[in-house]
Amino acid sequence: MYDFNKPEDAYKVSRLCNRGGVTADFPPYVTFELIDDCNFTCRMCHVSYRRKSKTEMEFGLFQKCLDDIAKYGSLVRFIGYCEPFMYSKIRDAITNVKKKKLQLHITTNGSLLDRPMIDFILASKIDCVIFSFQGFTAEEFCFMRKVSRAVYNKVTDNIRSLFEMRVSDKPFIRVTTTITDRDDPADRHGFVERHSKYADEVQVTGTTHFVTLETLFSVRNIMKQSNVKAPKKAAAARCFIPNYEMKISENGDVYICCSAITDDLLIGNAREDSLYNLWHSEKSVNIRKTLSDGHLERFRECSACSARYEYEDTGNALTDTVSGNVDKYGKAIMKTA
Ligand code: SF4
Ligand code: SF4
Repeated sequence: MYDFNKPEDAYKVSRLCNRGGVTADFPPYVTFELIDDCNFTCRMCHVSYRRKSKTEMEFGLFQKCLDDIAKYGSLVRFIGYCEPFMYSKIRDAITNVKKKKLQLHITTNGSLLDRPMIDFILASKIDCVIFSFQGFTAEEFCFMRKVSRAVYNKVTDNIRSLFEMRVSDKPFIRVTTTITDRDDPADRHGFVERHSKYADEVQVTGTTHFVTLETLFSVRNIMKQSNVKAPKKAAAARCFIPNYEMKISENGDVYICCSAITDDLLIGNAREDSLYNLWHSEKSVNIRKTLSDGHLERFRECSACSARYEYEDTGNALTDTVSGNVDKYGKAIMKTA
């Protein structure tokens, strides 16, 4: 049973699993994709190019999964390819995670918060809220996310309100962005400085990856249209993420990687078996072996993953984290052979 005092404790376990190539007995963090919908249509995200069912996770199913997770004490994350604050039962979901005394982290585009929701976040003592940006500047944010300057201003106002109204150390507020070669490296400092005023940490987490759109979703010429260079294939890559990541989609499908989109990495459905059994199933074991041996090309999903590509400015999109506080390349979660 994990005994985490903060979300970062779960990531420490994941790094140990990654470095040692060992599989956690149960994932240190579990991601919920609570709804198949998002209010943005960002140009770099497949959610914008496919039909969204708009279905939500049934609350009974959410509770069943949460009961399972609580036996192991894992960090709960509301992220995935959706905007979690669109989930109609988001308040109940937050309340129940905190009743179980689990660490909770929510990643959001920040546009749907309002005063009552900010009050609720503060009262619930959510452990961490991550605001997801794109690019270094407001102009780049609006271009990539296809939103107006008014939406950008609303997001930044919401972050400031959450920060200024906070009376305890919760939630930890982090602003993150990925960038493309459209971004001018000289704007990095401004991004960190601007957002550091109202966040505990500002991170540049790597390069925005467009390859999946062209290969898995047949979105033709999106890199060219967006004026983004295609990345080079890495010589070789091994992936250990299935040793410690699990994602549950709104329909109960369970994946062995939080960025999974296709059935390659589907290990079952939470309605049919316990999360523990799915984690230790034969399919899960085989996926781990295949990817840790470096055969990413055997799965459509992994073939297109950023793990297989190198970027001139930030190296491998999944391997490098630049922290506003640290300002150097850090967390290595992927090993190249
Ligand atoms: S806000 Fe996030 S989930 Fe929504 S379209 Fe943009 S990148 Fe995708
Ligand atoms: S290679 Fe990429 S898509 Fe495949 S499991 Fe690893 S991180 Fe996930």
